[in-house]
Amino acid sequence: MISVVDLNTYPNYNQRTQNYSNPLRRAYFSYDNQQPVIPDNNDSSKTIATFGLLQIASIALQKASKWFGDKLMRGKEFTSFENVAKVAQTMIDKNKLNVSAYFINKDNIKKFPEYLRNALTPVANGENAFYMDSAKLAVAPEKKPSLILHELGHAINASKGKFLRFLQKSRIYSAYVPTAVLLANNMLQDKGCHSDFIEKHAGLIGFLAFLPTVIEEGLASYRGVNAAKKVLGKTANLKILKKNYFTAWLTYLIGAIGLGVASKAAVIANKNPNI
Ligand SMILES: [Zn+2]
Repeated sequence: MISVVDLNTYPNYNQRTQNYSNPLRRAYFSYDNQQPVIPDNNDSSKTIATFGLLQIASIALQKASKWFGDKLMRGKEFTSFENVAKVAQTMIDKNKLNVSAYFINKDNIKKFPEYLRNALTPVANGENAFYMDSAKLAVAPEKKPSLILHELGHAINASKGKFLRFLQKSRIYSAYVPTAVLLANNMLQDKGCHSDFIEKHAGLIGFLAFLPTVIEEGLASYRGVNAAKKVLGKTANLKILKKNYFTAWLTYLIGAIGLGVASKAAVIANKNPNI
């Protein structure tokens, strides 16, 4: 842990030149009014330690997410390619989806328009799958066809009204959440509001902002599994499919925690410009 600086050991604290690159020292003094800032219970060494822990957590979460992502891509297929295609077609027909589903490989990728190729390359390599609402397109790697059922689950969600569409689109804004939390907090403080609600709950707010995505992802998988169950019954090993989809879902849960961590860290860093 970081030790607390004894103010008495720094009698010349009001001299800007003195070792003020030390974050611990800087955190204790306000250089504007040349007065020592007396730390309250929420003392700055604690804050710096919290910030450090958040950074460690952030790295650990990124590693965990990558690990689960790799695990998903190594996962076995739960049934044959033909069976997956049959389930996919049933999902499209039953829900009257105006969506094209493709299994991408290194050859058929060339048939797609130029602007889609960048996004499709990882799919051809077996590293990604996606549903693009604007293009009404669901794609999965030919090597990992079962991912298409989840993507068609997204297509069904998009066809089920405004609320689910909102859940689906909300992720676009997730990258801005830490900044938004910060701005909201600063705005309230500027207006003379002394509530530290946002500051205190920044982590939870960040997490909740990503929750719609976590829920919509879970629902897309649920629809995929359900369709496979209805079409294939006991002939397919649904346990494998559920396990794969759960692994994928965990990466989103980790994403939500990560957004909470990032939001909290942003607020702390903003309040303590020295860290
Ligand atoms: Zn998804």
